Parts: sequence; structure tokens; C-alpha cells
Amino acid sequence: MSAVNSLTSPILIAGPCAAESRQQVLSIANQLKDSGISYFRSGVWKPRSRPGTFEGIGVKALEWLQEVHQTYHIKPIVEVANTQHAEEIIKAKIPAVWIGARTTVNPFLVSEIAEALRGTSIKVMVKNPVNPDLELWIGAIERLMKVGIHVEAAIHRGFSQYGVHQYRNEPAWEIPLELMRRLPGLAVLCDPSHIGGSRSLLYDLSQKAADLGYNGLMIETHNNPSEALSDQAQQLTPQAFISLIQAIVWRKAEITDPVSRHSLEQLRTLIDGIDHRIILLIADRMELAKKIGFVKKEQDIQIYQPERWNAILQHVKQWSQENQLSEDLMTKLFEFIHQESIRKQSMVMYGKVIEPSES
Ligand code: PEP
Ligand code: MN
Repeated sequence: MSAVNSLTSPILIAGPCAAESRQQVLSIANQLKDSGISYFRSGVWKPRSRPGTFEGIGVKALEWLQEVHQTYHIKPIVEVANTQHAEEIIKAKIPAVWIGARTTVNPFLVSEIAEALRGTSIKVMVKNPVNPDLELWIGAIERLMKVGIHVEAAIHRGFSQYGVHQYRNEPAWEIPLELMRRLPGLAVLCDPSHIGGSRSLLYDLSQKAADLGYNGLMIETHNNPSEALSDQAQQLTPQAFISLIQAIVWRKAEITDPVSRHSLEQLRTLIDGIDHRIILLIADRMELAKKIGFVKKEQDIQIYQPERWNAILQHVKQWSQENQLSEDLMTKLFEFIHQESIRKQSMVMYGKVIEPSES
């Protein structure tokens, strides 16, 4: 029986951060054999920040992954970061690879890997780049697709940031959501292990991904996490992985009940009307900002008036509280609106907007 609690069929990937020994790899695979996973992940060459740490077993580990494939009929997936890795996995008949975050940032490496895999049927998944750059992520996917490679999924593993934060890698959910909008046919998986960096965050991150319409999860799974040679704090035992995926609810993408669908349509129509009114109100606000710009120009005073901006922020905070809206969110929204007002007033100041004739 599959452990997946779902209405659709998510792509689930589990396995260790890195292959460490034959016994470790086979023990994990054995415990995962009935879990319903689509791929068994394992690092073979590990991109570590500092030298002198465990950098993976290398080619020898590919034999253990072939054994997983043959014995348990679970497809192995391995990280490749250069041409040599790609050539080794072709030789070892590994059916799938992922491109890691540190490789996605480098168009030269991605192109080299694409060339090395050209003409094979190896499936490729592409992790987001370490920096929050959607174009770089899409660019890597395009470089692979351009040479006819089957890109099976993009994997969201979060984005690097300096200093200590709640997450090891900031999720910035808006970036993978925009990727889904830009490449609608492509599956997007979430890697909560590398986003969270800690076991305690995995459930919430995974359920959030399921709620946002992701197509699956990649989760690091180790037979003895506290002894793992890399990423100890974030790996789950196979049993804990199975409990986690049994707890995740995968929601349907569409409503099938016609009555609910109809009421959803009506609510969406109302929302569209409100959005239109918001835009018209912002346009009115900008017209007023321009008029203020003409007064400031005539009186030769500076565009940015900190006291006035403070007063606006006070109103925004008060009105947000009164209407149970997040003060933070509303402040951000008004920061954008205010920036645009300043831009419009600068255009007036530099003569880029002609004064309207009084009506
Ligand atoms: C990994 O999956 O083990 C890994 C190194 O991932 P990332 O490229 O996301 O850091
Ligand atoms: Mn890892």
C-alpha cells in the first residue's frame, strides 16, 4: 500500500543527503520499499562549503544505487555538477539526476551538463539557484530543454542569506509560484529539508507546499540521522518520513462539485471587480500626486517630505488595525504606492509631465 494520502499523485523523493556506505544505502532503501516513493535520492559528489568535510564517496556509490534500482525497483536520482559526473552516471545507467543549487547559478556548467546528457533518456530535475533569481532558474531549465533533455521537475530548495535565520534557506515562496505561472507544464517539487535545515520544520513546510499546488517533495532520509556525515539536523528516519507523508494532505487543483464551482466563480468575479476598483483608485491617487508635484515645483520645495510620509504611515497603521489587516503588509503596500507617487512627482519636476489645463 502506498503511504501517500492524496487525491492526485505527487512525486515523492526520499533518500540520504549522501551515500555513505553500501549498508547505509540498502538499509534506507529497504525501509522505504513500500512507501510509494518515485525516486531514491542520494548525493554521490557533495558540494560542501568548506574543504576537509565529507565530500561524498564518488563513483563507487553508483554501484550501491544500481543495487537499489535492481533490488527494490526504485529509480535512483543523483546530483551532477559537471561533465565528468554526467559521464559517470550515464555509464552506471542511473535513470535520473538533479542539478544542485550551486550549479544552477552557472550557465557554463549547465550547458556542459546539457551537452553531456544530450541524446540520453536521463530525466533531469533542476534545483533553484542559491540566489533568488528566477531568470537564472528558468535559464537553466531552458538550456537543458533546448538540447532535447526531459526536464522532469524544478525543485524549490530555498535561497541563501547571510546570518542566522529561522530557515536555513529563505523560502521566498513567490519565486517558485511565479515559476509555476511562467512554465505551467513543469512539475515543481519542494525540498523542505534544505529550506528548513531542521527536522522540526519539515511538516509545516511540506503541508504548505501541498497547499500551494506543488507536485511533490524531496526529503532527506537517513537510517541514523544523528550519525549522518552531512546535514544531520535535517534528515528523517525512513519511519518518520513515512509518517510525515501519511500526514500530508494533497489538495485537489480544481473543484469538481458544480454548485461550489459556481459560487467560487461568483466570488472570483466580485474579486475581479474589486481589483479593478483598486487600480482605478490608485490611478486617481497618482493624478493627485502629480497635482501636488506641480505645486511643489512652482514653490520650489523638495519632493520628499518625511513628516508627510510619517503621517501617511500613521493613518495606514491605524486604518489597518481598525480593519483587521496586517500592519506590516499594508505598510509594504503603501511603501510601493508612495514610491510611485515620488516617481510621478519627479517626472513633473523634470518637466516630463505637462501641466494639465484646468477643467
Ligand atoms: C542536496 O540535495 O543534498 C544538495 C546539496 O542540495 P542543494 O543543491 O539544494 O544545496
Ligand atoms: Mn543535503
